Amino acid sequence: MNADVLVIGAGLAGLRTATLLAECGHDVLLAERRPTLTGAIRTTGIFVRRTLDDFALPPDCLGPPIRHVALYPPTLRRAVTLVSARDEYRVADMASLYTAAARTATDAGVRIALGTRYAGRQSGAFLLMDRNGPISVQARFVVGADGARSQVARDLGLDRNRHLLVGGEEVFPIPRHDEPPTFHCVIDPSLAPGYLAWVVNDGQHAHVGVAGYACRFPDGLRRALDRFSNAAPGLHGISRPDEVERRGGPIPVGGVLRRISSVDGLLVGDAAGAVSPLTAGGLDPCLRLSDHAAEVLDEALRSGRADTLARYNGAALRRRFRGRLALRRGLAQVRTPPVATAAFTLLRTPPGRYAARRILFGDASFPSP
Ligand SMILES: Cc1cc2nc3c(=O)[nH]c(=O)nc-3n(C[C@H](O)[C@H](O)[C@H](O)COP(=O)(O)OP(=O)(O)OC[C@H]3O[C@@H](n4cnc5c(N)ncnc54)[C@H](O)[C@@H]3O)c2cc1C
Repeated sequence: MNADVLVIGAGLAGLRTATLLAECGHDVLLAERRPTLTGAIRTTGIFVRRTLDDFALPPDCLGPPIRHVALYPPTLRRAVTLVSARDEYRVADMASLYTAAARTATDAGVRIALGTRYAGRQSGAFLLMDRNGPISVQARFVVGADGARSQVARDLGLDRNRHLLVGGEEVFPIPRHDEPPTFHCVIDPSLAPGYLAWVVNDGQHAHVGVAGYACRFPDGLRRALDRFSNAAPGLHGISRPDEVERRGGPIPVGGVLRRISSVDGLLVGDAAGAVSPLTAGGLDPCLRLSDHAAEVLDEALRSGRADTLARYNGAALRRRFRGRLALRRGLAQVRTPPVATAAFTLLRTPPGRYAARRILFGDASFPSP
């Protein structure tokens, strides 16, 4: 097979990059190992205001707006509640969103190969595997949109994510109720070491999850999630059904990687480490970095100059993450419930609440290159 660009991975980053390149008139093949885009979802799907403002996501894929955030100490008592005057978050129905994005991609001319795994490089070609066996692809460039543990990054000799959290959640529909849609966050290192346990209740679905450093969960991620699920806040009067959708995966939090391009291709999304080190939000960064990637690849294909890809440089972007990386190191130091409880003493003060509002309701987004 031949293509101008071979994109590996049909998450949001791969779908966006492939679509933009096809819209520029390039021949794009998108290979995804999952047999369907609606299964094995790895994200809660919370989109922040800046993304909703700047990207035209299909409205019928988005849940109700969320303005309330409640922050809980390990005791779950005396939550700090913050309310924004603006709609801050919306949780997407990710299965519908991926389906809609795939339809847009195919309409633009992208060839999508599902159930097709990238298996490496061989004699100047890229090797894919589907259920019928190996397929050799000749492509001018390859895009690694294959997630936090990118094999494309390894094969192109680019930087790889080393600083990872792991997260898992349960998702289930809930009966309609009159409480305002709320994002509940619990800071308890015995449940979510180095990050948060969360409940998002937007009045349509509940997402109950934990994330943290894999080696620091006292009894593993699954047990922590079970423990949290039994006592999760924000679900008063709502019982957990026996059947729930389970999601999970690694989250790179070491900041954008420095070397994310070579003359043969580049990385986008989690593969490039494009995730906020503090909030672990990666949906806004993956869309913004994909736009930049498509622009650089378009220029390289039109000019025939592969050295154009040197302009796609993570080191410059990484410098703008210094503050967030410092805050991530701070959060990683909250290692015991008493330290988390002490942090709430600060959080309850006016400067503490101001800082929390800046992080949760601020205008910062992934830096534009
Ligand atoms: C539990 C959890 C909750 C999260 N919640 C949020 C949130 O609410 N908001 C937010 O902003 N961020 C969230 N994140 C982070 C966010 O989901 C990611 O940053 C974002 O989805 C990354 O998109 P991506 O396209 O780069 O990667 P992915 O969505 O991981 O897509 C990579 C794709 O590549 C495919 N792939 C991998 N290897 C191969 C291969 N060899 N061959 C072919 N295909 C391959 C995979 O199957 C996958 O479909 C969350 C992460 C986790 C783990």
